Amino acid sequence: MSKCLITGGAGFIGSHLTELLLSQGHEVVILDNFSTGQQNNLAHVQDHPNLKMVTGSITDPILLSEAVLGVDVIYHLAAAVGVKIVADDPVRTIETNIYPTERLLRLAAQTGCRFFMASTSEVYGKNPKEKWNEEEDLHFGPTSKPRWAYGCSKAIDEFLALAHHKKYDLPVVIGRFFNVVGPRQVGNYGMVIPRFVDQALNGGPVVVYDDGQQVRCFAHVKEIVDCIATLTNSDAAVGNIFNIGSDQAISIEQLAREVIQRIDPSVKIEYVGYSDAYGKDFEDVRRRVPDVSRLEATIGKKPQMTLGQILDDIIEWKRSSS
Ligand code: UDP
Repeated sequence: MSKCLITGGAGFIGSHLTELLLSQGHEVVILDNFSTGQQNNLAHVQDHPNLKMVTGSITDPILLSEAVLGVDVIYHLAAAVGVKIVADDPVRTIETNIYPTERLLRLAAQTGCRFFMASTSEVYGKNPKEKWNEEEDLHFGPTSKPRWAYGCSKAIDEFLALAHHKKYDLPVVIGRFFNVVGPRQVGNYGMVIPRFVDQALNGGPVVVYDDGQQVRCFAHVKEIVDCIATLTNSDAAVGNIFNIGSDQAISIEQLAREVIQRIDPSVKIEYVGYSDAYGKDFEDVRRRVPDVSRLEATIGKKPQMTLGQILDDIIEWKRSSS
């Protein structure tokens, strides 16, 4: 059994990963500043004897060096996430996503512990291809559009992680998440499914941005944390980058219809321009579909749940928690 550090362990993905690792018998230390993470995400496990919670920011170098003591595996999930945070506060995005990652990698290189780095499909930018594999070029927009600060900051993190692997033989695994959804995700930071579900449960309208023809793939967080833990423990994954997500594509307009049909077919869709939603400097990604063959070839599985199963689970959670 290992001792694991999860930065951002109280967040949406982090809390599900915490539960999984505890259920597998590992010891878990969480470092979280509860900016977007929430105490009640950990309600099920907060008294678990193998869990230690440290409240503080990854931007605090002393806290970071204390948190890594005796740790075998680091899951680095803490970041400024969500299109809304990135659009509203690009300075916070850059500061949170770059300097602490560099410090953490340096600390990990001193002990040689395994290192999972959470990256994002945003690193592909607005690549026009139908499906993206890990060797694609990156297609960022101009620096005057704050959205790209997020993808660029995570691309720097990837360079840093790969450089530490090469120079210090640090066993790093990089995962690029594609639209992860499920219970505990909140809509405050822009995420579409919790917003649509809340809007439909409140009688509508469901607010679709632009023409709704933008395409995404949604994967359930339970399957994602399983992929993260399996990949991190796989020697074949070390030094590599992996797309982690579903490859079942759907337009946002169709997603809105699926949500409405499950909750209340009388709810209407309202179409709103991007500038009204995110401000005038906003640019969206039209299509984002991963090629997950590297993931499947390495761990023998990929996220399988259908969108219908995922929506049913989220709606049930929303109804039971409200
Ligand atoms: N979106 C929408 N209504 C909302 C929130 C998002 O139509 O209330 C759209 C958004 O423009 C994007 C897609 O849904 O095209 C997914 O948005 P999200 O912020 O969840 O993820 P990302 O843009 O990072 O894929």
